[in-house]
Amino acid sequence: PYFDYLEKKDYFIPGGIMATDTIFDWCVDHDIPYYCSNWRHNEEQILHENKQVISEANAEFVYVYLPKLDSVMHNNGPYSDATKAKLNDLETKITDLYRFAQKLYNEVSLYVISDHGMAPVTGSYDIKSVVDRLGFDFGKDYVAFYDSTMARFWWKDTRVKAAVLDTLNSLDCGYVVSTEELKRLRVWFPDPKYGDSYFLMNEGLLLNPSFMGLKVIPGMHGYHPDAPNSYSIMLSNREIPADIQSITVIRKTMESELAK
Ligand SMILES: [Zn+2]
Repeated sequence: PYFDYLEKKDYFIPGGIMATDTIFDWCVDHDIPYYCSNWRHNEEQILHENKQVISEANAEFVYVYLPKLDSVMHNNGPYSDATKAKLNDLETKITDLYRFAQKLYNEVSLYVISDHGMAPVTGSYDIKSVVDRLGFDFGKDYVAFYDSTMARFWWKDTRVKAAVLDTLNSLDCGYVVSTEELKRLRVWFPDPKYGDSYFLMNEGLLLNPSFMGLKVIPGMHGYHPDAPNSYSIMLSNREIPADIQSITVIRKTMESELAK
């Protein structure tokens, strides 16, 4: 009853993401016919469906969603043979689709974008027990959400807040992110609905147990954006402008490509 989460809603449709619009809303506003992959289908189906749309020339923009790499990396680790094999498979699939489009159109712009990095998991820490041992009342004194790489807290009492944060600050598996840093990372919100305080684990460490499951898996994302394995990629057959340096401006790149 305390929590709500994003992925139960379909964020690939116009009006899909709460409190913001997406590139698809932008396409609707600018009369740009687009096609968005059906994320419920498997990669083979998705590629087949995209080829269909490309051959019918009904869209100026196709969003090809190939999500399997994420689970391969979670379950095998980012530097595993399974991950290498999946990357080769993606290269084959994307090259094939690109060549298919090139045969039908004079100009094809290809952007390959990953949504996040992936760190090899090296260990775990039981943050929940550390907080539980302080003896405060969950729901009455505070509320906590134990995610895979961070714990979020909502405080109902300032003394409880001080005691829990003191204890968390004494741990060396992670740290309490300051308001100043949250603002710098552009994840500070005036409404504390996402949390009053955040404890972020060091790269490679998982909270275990967490509300996301009781298993330590080989790969995880959701660490500090400056962590070495947090880097994401954008590849293109077009020149990527020098000011495109962050995941937050990928949208801008897509818009300027489509506005041409
Ligand atoms: Zn994932």
